[in-house]
Amino acid sequence: MAKIISGKTLAAQFKAQAAQQTAQLQEKGIGVRLAVIIVGENPASRTYVKGKTKDCAECGIASDVIELPESISENELLEKIEQLNRDDSVNGILVQLPLPRQIREQSVINAIAPEKDVDGFTDINTGKLVSGEECFLPCTPAGCIEMLKSTGVPIAGKDAVVIGRSNIVGKPAALLLCAEDATVTLCHSRTKDLKEKCAAADILIAAVGKAGFVTGDMVKEGAVVIDVGINRGADGKLCGDVVFDEAEAKASYITPVPGGVGLMTRAMLMMNTVRAARMQAEGRALREKGENH
Ligand code: NDP
Repeated sequence: MAKIISGKTLAAQFKAQAAQQTAQLQEKGIGVRLAVIIVGENPASRTYVKGKTKDCAECGIASDVIELPESISENELLEKIEQLNRDDSVNGILVQLPLPRQIREQSVINAIAPEKDVDGFTDINTGKLVSGEECFLPCTPAGCIEMLKSTGVPIAGKDAVVIGRSNIVGKPAALLLCAEDATVTLCHSRTKDLKEKCAAADILIAAVGKAGFVTGDMVKEGAVVIDVGINRGADGKLCGDVVFDEAEAKASYITPVPGGVGLMTRAMLMMNTVRAARMQAEGRALREKGENH
C-alpha cells in the first residue's frame, strides 16, 4: 500500500517559507507584490485567480487582480503588461490562461519581463530551463519535483515516464527530471506501447487530462506516482488521471487529487514571487552601488 504524498502538508511548509522570506524582505523595507491579469469571465480562471490571491494574503504578499474585458485587443493587453513591467512595486506578473481567441498567448507571455515571469512561461525562462541555467521554474512541474524529493527516494538513475508533453507541464517536467539525473521517457498521444513503458517506470508522472487514464496494470510495483491531472469523474467529483485505488495498491508513494499537485503548484508560485522580489531588490542595490562609485 502506497504512502500518500500530501500536497496539503508540503504546500503549507513551502507557503510558511514564502511567508517568512516575505517578512524578512519587508523588515528591510522591500515589498513583495504579484499582479494577476485575468481576461474575460471564464469561471475556472476566476476560481484559480481567487486561490492565488488567497495564497498571497496568507504569505503576506500583496496582490493586484487586473480584470480586463473579453473583447480586449492584443495590443491593449501588451500595453498593460508593459506598464506592469515598468512598475518597480510589482515583482511578479501572471497572465491567467486561457486567453480569448483574438489574442496570441505566447506573444502576450513573452511580453512579460523575464525577471517578473513567476509562471516561468516566457521563452527566455524556457530556454534557460533547457540549457540548465538558473531561472523561474514553471510552478506545476517544480511542484512535482518537490513532491518527489519529499519522499526521500533518490531520483538520480531512475527510469521516469512523463505522460503528456504540454509546454506548461509535461515538457518542463521531463526537463527537470533529466536535470535530476533520471532517465526520462516523454510520452504523448502518438506513443506506442504506452502501457508497457509506464509499467517499467520507477517514477510515473501523469499529465494527460483524462480521468481513469492510468490503471493499476500501468504502475510498476514500488513506483512513485505523481498525478497532475485535474478532471471531473463520471460521478462529477474532482479526480486525477490515475485510478487511485489501483495505483495505490502497487506504488510506494502516490499523490492524491484533490490535495496533491494542485496545491503545490500554488505554493511554488508564492516561492517564485518572493524570489523575484529578492532578486529585483538585489539588482537595484547593485545598480545604486554602481552609480555611487
Ligand atoms: P494538455 O491538454 O495541454 O496536454 C495533454 C497531453 O496529454 C498532450 O501532450 C497529449 O498528447 C497527451 N495525451 C492526450 N491523450 C493521450 C493518450 N491517449 N495517450 C497519451 N498521451 C495523451 O494538458 P496540460 O498539460 O495543460 O494538463 C494536463 C492535465 O493536468 C489536465 O488535467 C490539467 O487540468 C492538469 N493540470 C493540473 C495542474 C495542477 O496544478 N495540478 C496545472 C496544469 C494542468 P499530444 O501532445 O500528442 O496531443
